[in-house]
Amino acid sequence: MGELRMSMLVDTFNRAHRDLRVSITDRCNLRCTYCMPPDFSDWLPGDHLLSVDELLLVIEVATEQGIENIRLTGGEPLVRPDVVEIVRRVKALPLAPKVSLTTNALRLTELAQPLADAGLERVNVSLDTLDRERFKTLTFRDRFNDVIAGIEAAQRAGLTPLKVNAVLMRGINDDEAIPLLRHSVANGWNLRFIEQMPLDAQGSWERAEMISAAEILELLSTEFDLVAVPTRGSAPAEEYTVDGGPMTVGIIASVSKPFCAACDRLRLTADGQIRNCLFARDETDVRATLRDPSITEAERRDRIARLFTASVMAKLPGHGINDPSFIQPDRPMSAIGG
Ligand code: SAM
Ligand code: SF4
Repeated sequence: MGELRMSMLVDTFNRAHRDLRVSITDRCNLRCTYCMPPDFSDWLPGDHLLSVDELLLVIEVATEQGIENIRLTGGEPLVRPDVVEIVRRVKALPLAPKVSLTTNALRLTELAQPLADAGLERVNVSLDTLDRERFKTLTFRDRFNDVIAGIEAAQRAGLTPLKVNAVLMRGINDDEAIPLLRHSVANGWNLRFIEQMPLDAQGSWERAEMISAAEILELLSTEFDLVAVPTRGSAPAEEYTVDGGPMTVGIIASVSKPFCAACDRLRLTADGQIRNCLFARDETDVRATLRDPSITEAERRDRIARLFTASVMAKLPGHGINDPSFIQPDRPMSAIGG
């Protein structure tokens, strides 16, 4: 691993920020039930989405402040026609960060190789079922085969280790925990289960319905020999070797066992708002600065850097999902960038 660059984005709890999740669009070609309703129409106005030049400027300033990892997300990042150009230009920055992408894989068959050629390092693919009919029910689109083909294309293009994220829902796909892991191990996918979070557009999350990390671990342990891999640093997943390894499975207990104390992430929404937490109630507007015609380019950069610092300094110690006073953010996951 390379030496860590000095991060200037250190918050009041001494957390150094090195990871920026950049949502490049809120649009999507699926309608996963835990994310947005089938008739979702509350899209961001097109002219609010940041252009490639605007994205690049924000990312460049962030790298100068110590950001080392950029994860492109959405919405579905691959529906943005200029996604390959975005990756190529981020990788060409003077302080080029590592670039990865979270995707539903629908467009990976055609884009995996161009993205790899542009310098993309890895992809995380979201897949909650191995059953084509169930996939249709869960996403409102009959595109299961495209996901599998997309994953294979990513592996051929060397976008590895390929991580697959799955959300288990009670009575809906929780019977697939074991088959999903068996299939992942056999196909070289690094599977990670993520606890369902209160981030759906329709606000229908219920704690009692959530399948907890402890429950997932118990379920998987009936079939596999799982041994915890020590030290996870700022990585959110608790990793376990499966049947002696080398394959591992991750369990991300965002709700039941938050990892806020080690959080090193910031987020940029597709419409140019910095968020210091997925669950933040406040955002820091960078779009207005990007589009302010009255300032010089040097002033613009300086102001963007200050906005990042201000956002980091206002970061709370934790997301508070477990507090009685918790209020779900106004924006759904698709607009924040998961
Ligand atoms: N469209 C891409 C995808 O699905 O991978 C990227 C954006 S999506 C919002 C990012 C991740 O958030 C996916 O792995 C998805 O499963 C997860 N996600 C969305 N809503 C969620 C929720 N309410 N709780 C937990 N994870 C969620
Ligand atoms: Fe789209 Fe990803 Fe949300 Fe599913 S989870 S609806 S693929 S943004």
